[in-house]
Amino acid sequence: MQKMKQASMDNQKASVGKGRRVILFPMPLQGHITPMLQLANILYNKGLSITIIYTHLNSPNTSSYPHFTFCSISDGFSKDEASTTNYVAFMTLLNVKCVVPFQECLEKLLSNVEEQPIACLISDAMLYFTQAVADSLKLPRIVLRTSNIASFLVFTAIPGLLREKGYYPIQDPQSEAPVIEFPPLRVKDLPETKTTDDATRDQLLSLLASQTKASSGMIWNSCRKLEQDAITALEQEFPIPIFTIGPFHKYFPAYSSSLLSQDHSCISWLDKQAPKSVIYVSFGSIVAINETEFLEIAWGLANSGVPFLWVVRPRSVQGAEWVEALPKGYLEMVDGRCHIVKWAPQQEVLAHPATGGFWTHNGWNSTLESICEGVPMICHPNFGDQSVIARYVSYVWRVGLHLEKKLERRVIERAIRRLILEAEGLELRSRIIGLKEQVDVSLKGGSAYKSLESLISYIQSF
Ligand code: UDP
Repeated sequence: MQKMKQASMDNQKASVGKGRRVILFPMPLQGHITPMLQLANILYNKGLSITIIYTHLNSPNTSSYPHFTFCSISDGFSKDEASTTNYVAFMTLLNVKCVVPFQECLEKLLSNVEEQPIACLISDAMLYFTQAVADSLKLPRIVLRTSNIASFLVFTAIPGLLREKGYYPIQDPQSEAPVIEFPPLRVKDLPETKTTDDATRDQLLSLLASQTKASSGMIWNSCRKLEQDAITALEQEFPIPIFTIGPFHKYFPAYSSSLLSQDHSCISWLDKQAPKSVIYVSFGSIVAINETEFLEIAWGLANSGVPFLWVVRPRSVQGAEWVEALPKGYLEMVDGRCHIVKWAPQQEVLAHPATGGFWTHNGWNSTLESICEGVPMICHPNFGDQSVIARYVSYVWRVGLHLEKKLERRVIERAIRRLILEAEGLELRSRIIGLKEQVDVSLKGGSAYKSLESLISYIQSF
């Protein structure tokens, strides 16, 4: 058993928040850390004091947040366990390994009488073990779910309804058959969880649902303007207080919570491009592709004739360190029309006047960032919630093109030209600008604004 001293308390600076303290605990993945830190800033600006518990694995850059108190805990992951791409195994293990260090850290924080009194814990919904720990310490726990609401409803139905109705295990991942229980999804839009261990996945998802239901409430990086129907269904399924206060990143000017360092050369490159002329290509922090797909993307981009800004994360092409699989002479051929970086300041890129479209994997953060900048998308989901989000982008909000077929250079070239050069792209852009405006209204005095006000009163009431 690990001792309390292993939870190292690195008070970065005395907190300047005045109000009651909330403890936040993110899942250590980029797409989860970013919204948790954004939420921390939102709560801090509303007068609450903030303490973040984080794991050694993928630890955030604490020096960027001198106004928060940070406590690190050991997660006990080996190098192999930390670098796995099996996220079902990763999340399951995290929920086992963190129990003792997290409990010890929380006990220590609760016993510190010099700090402001602690109102509640806010932890990532996937860190379901924190419910039992919070209960044992009589501390209310609110969950933060970092994806969209529609995909959460689908995920939590996998072990029950969707399995009973025979959707899982998925027999034909290309099937266009409707999922009548979750319109407008088709079988091909159901989440692909990239595991062969269905029993472990189902257990993880059952615990996600049951420990969320046992919590004191849910916070969502989403809003009624985007997901009214899903919110109605959620309120029935999960009868706990629900706060839809997103998109979080709109509460502040763009700032970075990147685990990787951002290459700002792309902004000066964008400065030289014509308005709305560039396709920005990025598949987020996790998706990996094989060499064949990489080459099809490369040729599709080159053949489109459209200028492109392409994020290729190191080791995201299987078997390669970076872009060495590009054919000889490729870079010379697209010189001036192409800029490739390892990691971009994405929000700034999307806000840049030269950016005309975003080819995305439809991670929820990327999708929200694109909506908020009015940039239409090419949707190419890879796994997890991304296929559900892509269906919403292309079919419900109709602000993107869905690249549903196998990655093939001619299909890619065609989709890029449709988005950037043709009337269809203009239509998508005008629709996404309309959606962005509705989201802005929701944040400025509308439903998201009101929901945040009630969240703050709720936290103060503990
Ligand atoms: N991101 C970035 N630079 C890049 C690519 C992505 O800063 O070059 C950020 C992006 O702005 C988003 C996050 O990484 O906030 C990715 O989260 P998302 O939910 O879209 O996808 P995930 O990485 O979880 O698959």
